[in-house]
Amino acid sequence: MDIVTDRMQTQTLGYPRIGRDRELKRALESTWAGKLQPSKLLEVFDGVVEDGWIAQRDAGVDAIAVGGESLYDHVLDWTIRFGLIPDRFRGLAGLDRTFAMARGLPGVPALEMTKWFDTNYHYLVPEVDADAVPVADFGDYLALIERAYAVLGARAVPVVLGPFTFLRLSHLAAPLGAMLDRLLPLYRELLAALARLGVTEVQMHEPALVLSGVAAFRDDVERAYAGLADAGVRLNLVTYFDDLGEAYPWVVDLPVDVISLDFTRGETLPLIETHGWPAGKVLAAGVVDGRSIWRVRPDTVGAVLRRLRALPAFQPAGRLRLSTSSSLQHVPHSAARETALPEALRNVLAFADEKLAELEMLAGGDVARANAAWATFEAFAPADGVVRERVAALTPTDFQRVLPYEERRPLQVVLPLLPMTTIGSFPQTREVRQLRARHTRGEITSAEYEAGIDALTAYAIGVQDGLGLDMLVHGEFERTDMVEFFAQKLTGFAFTQHGWVQSFGSRCVRPPIIYADIARPTPMTVREFAVAQSFTEKPVKGMLTGPVTIINWSYPRTDIPRHEIAYQLGLALRDEIADLEAAGAKAVQVDEPALREGLPLKRERWDAYLAWATGAFRLATGKALPETQVHTHMCYSEFGEILEAIDGLDADVISIENARSDDVTLGELAAYGYPREVGPGVYDIHSPVVPTAAFVEEKLRSFLRHLAPERIWVNPDCGLKTRAWAEVLPSLQAMVTAVVRLRTELDGGDAR
Ligand code: GLN
Ligand code: ZN
Repeated sequence: MDIVTDRMQTQTLGYPRIGRDRELKRALESTWAGKLQPSKLLEVFDGVVEDGWIAQRDAGVDAIAVGGESLYDHVLDWTIRFGLIPDRFRGLAGLDRTFAMARGLPGVPALEMTKWFDTNYHYLVPEVDADAVPVADFGDYLALIERAYAVLGARAVPVVLGPFTFLRLSHLAAPLGAMLDRLLPLYRELLAALARLGVTEVQMHEPALVLSGVAAFRDDVERAYAGLADAGVRLNLVTYFDDLGEAYPWVVDLPVDVISLDFTRGETLPLIETHGWPAGKVLAAGVVDGRSIWRVRPDTVGAVLRRLRALPAFQPAGRLRLSTSSSLQHVPHSAARETALPEALRNVLAFADEKLAELEMLAGGDVARANAAWATFEAFAPADGVVRERVAALTPTDFQRVLPYEERRPLQVVLPLLPMTTIGSFPQTREVRQLRARHTRGEITSAEYEAGIDALTAYAIGVQDGLGLDMLVHGEFERTDMVEFFAQKLTGFAFTQHGWVQSFGSRCVRPPIIYADIARPTPMTVREFAVAQSFTEKPVKGMLTGPVTIINWSYPRTDIPRHEIAYQLGLALRDEIADLEAAGAKAVQVDEPALREGLPLKRERWDAYLAWATGAFRLATGKALPETQVHTHMCYSEFGEILEAIDGLDADVISIENARSDDVTLGELAAYGYPREVGPGVYDIHSPVVPTAAFVEEKLRSFLRHLAPERIWVNPDCGLKTRAWAEVLPSLQAMVTAVVRLRTELDGGDAR
């Protein structure tokens, strides 16, 4: 890297991996369908990778992260490179093995998938046995780095997933320290091989250092980095997604040359100001947010940089680099392509390519254009006075049901013991998708579209009625996605055309953007509810997505606090519930599957998050009539640690994913003494296996060991939209058969 005086050096930590037009997604799926040769897949991969390198080079980035690119998942790549292959995949090799580990084979379950820290990216969890012997398999990685050098020269900086983070994210059957000792020689070997290729600096990605509880591993981390210090390359210790907190003083003292810290999340700057910066080390300041889609506000970033430069440690300015806060894999490729968005909005968006330009802008210091873009945007999206006043006027009673549970429950619907329901969606068949596509293309009128949706709704109601379910749902046929559907009906949201980001493997999502105040111009769900209710005497649940889930699955604005956005959403949903009640709804369900996953990485921030998250839910549901039964639903729910918050939602009924966790979640709720009703999923909707009545009956008997029958609802684990009717019908039938048997046994089937 040649140093131009006065211009700060810049670095990246990773780039979008799926291709500008999702080329890699398509190539992967064609390969899995047997329609593309694996060699062609690798060509597509190479093309996408090189495109990213060149974009970064042409944007003028000095230190470009390379080698974090992946066909499916970078954690899986390192699992394979360390030879940590679970026995069930031993017979396989090459891409077959990679994809088997990622996706499973008949009878051979895939590695478990879970969220990458608090992002919406999912990685595959390494399984490390107690007697695992890692074996180096670095061929693909070294070839990738060699290629990067050919394209980028010394600007290429290889990314390695650090040993602590790799092990911290694994399912370990042995203590972390013991596995670390087995893994370290491989890391040394890898660094030596990189040094032989001419590499001078390596990024060691160690985001796990920001997690709470890292102090317990201090010895391990120190031993690891002491062991890597003399491997022949400069180490850049990279952390992101939060500050280092209490671990700051000893982490910055690790024997590395550069440390990259996130200045967009947590409180990194005060840590540096309080504890100082170790002599001789370079700080790469992650001031360009790798996870938000907003342009930087030059004044905010400028203030951070001025405070840093004021510290003696950064007097020779060469000790300070500019960085993205994390890999750019969490944002789409290019905002410039979003030509359908109003210019005033587009000009304050920064996806990956715009963020590269921002690094250069901050390094060079010309920020006038960015300031002007924000000024124009503020005039374009002014505050909604009515909404702001409503939020400002909220008082504690807005967050409470009118009557406590014991008093409101007797006023609510009367149903048989073990009432049966479903979580909301019914199969999104080809017919549903075609209907929607034809409407979007303008081939059918809105009236024709609605008539089509209503016919599907009528069918779903007929099925539920005929099977004998007790509380019905309309089926959500009109919804593409549980967040997008609401976002499209509310003000304050914008939608991109190309803004895809990888969720896992070939799966991409295109989150809406919250850019202004949120209001509800017209009812959102009442028409479909009323249609469904008109076909049956049984109660139909109004079906809404909760405020926390809408925020967590969108790109939120950053100019007002998240709780304020959540309260705006809460109020819009409150009005919707009032309209549903007026249309005859006896029950509403407010889904919050993303409540748990929004928990901050650091425990000390949990309370603040849970306070506004549960607050927003209660704001939405608190003014429901006492007669209205409020349901909520959560999936992927490891509630153990947040039971108080779950209870604090004050929902009358909570349905939970439970089948895969073997009643663990149910057990936790019961042990906590959850005082209201619970619908633990009786079968796993993620599997195509149709449960038998005996299986469901067994499940119900196990529920009865945890909860009194009056507190139990019977439902599948989650929505049924990904299943076929041919699976749904016999599955629900099995559920009904089991319940009928148990009811006779429990009370002869009388209504309570
Ligand atoms: N009501 C939604 C559905 O059934 C819930 C989806 C979810 O929990 N993710 O599809
Ligand atoms: Zn669910």
